[in-house]
Amino acid sequence: MDCLFCKIIGGEIPSAKVYEDELVYAFRDINPQAPVHVLVVPKAHIASADEITAENSAAVAAMFNAIPKLAASEGLANGYRIITNIGEDGCQSVKHMHFHILGGKKLPESMA
Ligand code: 5GP
Ligand code: ZN
Repeated sequence: MDCLFCKIIGGEIPSAKVYEDELVYAFRDINPQAPVHVLVVPKAHIASADEITAENSAAVAAMFNAIPKLAASEGLANGYRIITNIGEDGCQSVKHMHFHILGGKKLPESMA
């Protein structure tokens, strides 16, 4: 499968890794939208949050277990935002599910 984030997880394409466990990989976004912009992805290919099922949701739980640890190590004690884009209307550009962690400044109130 020709998937950018699968290649990043596999080390085929370099990335600035900030966290890794058995199920989860996290790395800095190449085009940061905030002082802290980290992408959290499941190691298993899941196309988007719209593809979450009872069978693959352990990876999702692991992602949400990793996020508070990541937020702490990135110094986001004052808060942050988690975003996942889905499909065409959600402007999802990489079809491997990822949660954006954005923080390090007061973020805009508007979400859409
Ligand atoms: P989406 O638009 O799908 O929600 O988010 C994709 C994100 O992946 C974008 O924020 C984009 O900057 C980031 N991105 C795209 N290609 C690369 C890459 O090769 N390396 C890294 N670290 N981030 C990437
Ligand atoms: Zn993938």
